[in-house]
Amino acid sequence: MDSRVIACPNCGRKNRVPAVAEGVPRCGHCAQPLPWMAEAGDDDFLDVAERADIPILLDMWAPWCGPCRQVSPALEQVARDLAGRVKLVKVDVDKAPRVSERLAVQAVPTLIVMRSATVVARRAGAAPAAALRGWLDEALRSAT
Ligand code: ZN
Repeated sequence: MDSRVIACPNCGRKNRVPAVAEGVPRCGHCAQPLPWMAEAGDDDFLDVAERADIPILLDMWAPWCGPCRQVSPALEQVARDLAGRVKLVKVDVDKAPRVSERLAVQAVPTLIVMRSATVVARRAGAAPAAALRGWLDEALRSAT
C-alpha cells in the first residue's frame, strides 16, 4: 500500500501515513490529526478519494504544467493547516484519463472538493495560497 512519512505538526514525531485508511490518520505519539496527502490514479481513485471519510481536495495536475508546480506547495500548506479536516489527493491527468473524463477536467490545474464522492466545488487555474484557502474554507462549510 502506498504511504508517505509525515512529521506531526504538533510534536514533530515522524509517522507513516497510508494513502487509504479509516477515519483520519493520527500521530502515534500525541494522537493529533496528521496532514493527509496521497496520489491516486484510475485504478485506486475509488479507494483513495471517493471512499474517504473526510472531504477531499483533488489536485488534477500534469507534470508538464507550470501553474501546477506553482500551486502544489500552496495546496500542501493548506493540507497541513487543515489536518484532520481535508485530505489532499493529487491526480496526474495523463495517467488517469478515466477519472479526468468523468470529472470533465478541461484544464490543469483543476481543483475539486469532493465529499462522499460528490463534487461540492471546483475551480481551474493557479491562485495564491490565501485565495485557495478562502475558497476551500467556503467549500468545506457547504460540504459539512
Ligand atoms: Zn504528534
